[in-house]
Amino acid sequence: MPNLGVILQNSLRTGVAVPAFNVPYLPMIEPVIRAVIDQNAFALIETARLEWYKFEAGGPQEVAQEFGCWQSPDHVRLHLDHIPVIDEDGQQVDYLSIIRQAIDLGYHSVMVDGSRLPLEENINATKRVVQLAHAAGIPCEAELGVIRGHEAGPLPSYEELFSSGAGFTKIEEARRFVTETSCDWLSVAIGNVHGAISKGYKDQKKVSARLDLNHLKALSSATSIPLVLHGGSGIPQEYVLASFKKGIAKINIATEIRQAYESALEETGSVSTAQEAVFQRTAWLVGDYLGLKDTQPIIMKGQV
Ligand SMILES: [Zn+2]
Repeated sequence: MPNLGVILQNSLRTGVAVPAFNVPYLPMIEPVIRAVIDQNAFALIETARLEWYKFEAGGPQEVAQEFGCWQSPDHVRLHLDHIPVIDEDGQQVDYLSIIRQAIDLGYHSVMVDGSRLPLEENINATKRVVQLAHAAGIPCEAELGVIRGHEAGPLPSYEELFSSGAGFTKIEEARRFVTETSCDWLSVAIGNVHGAISKGYKDQKKVSARLDLNHLKALSSATSIPLVLHGGSGIPQEYVLASFKKGIAKINIATEIRQAYESALEETGSVSTAQEAVFQRTAWLVGDYLGLKDTQPIIMKGQV
């Protein structure tokens, strides 16, 4: 069975993306995995630090344990999402010890997010994590550019963000960043935004983000590594599908399945009904929205 580094290379080469689903509530893990297997696709379960503190995922150990109950390595692997060096509230994070812990727990890949740091410091922090990850034989994702949405309060006008290109990952910085850090995958800012997570905003319908596909293509040629699209919920399908042909190998999806879980739970009070809602939404996302039904053999072999 290929390791996750090879699988993402396969994804980049074939244009068959790997969706990565965030699970802010532990009972979401089982229905997401069931839906991925049901669609005969390949996906990641991922967990970010903010989901342990601002939601109910517990911590890296709790997620790994629940994942272990349902794991199916032909179809799903476990990724450590956003471990920020500076978090969304401006606090310093002991990122190295969290990432070490996840590696010891058997996570199949990890992410360090130094995107709130100046370039030089982001490079240094990322280098440290790449060394840890590579010593354990797993890939490391990093982030460069400004992907908004996790900070408290309302998002600045999306139209303004998009048309100015402010915060987009810069081509020359990306080239240098990848060369100097040897990171395996890079999360880029090309018009995508994270779903809001702060009180009063997290239940709102997400802004319909667009993607600058020419900019993406240029980033892909400059870096030659699998690129990652964060904030995958709510982007019109034609942009998402086109991005898979221009360098996006992994797409993170959080808001869509979180809101499915939360609203079903609120309506019915039943965890199993909420799990069923997550199953349905995930199966729809994988099959209809992302067009990934029956792509598991392609992603494993690396050829169509
Ligand atoms: Zn993200």
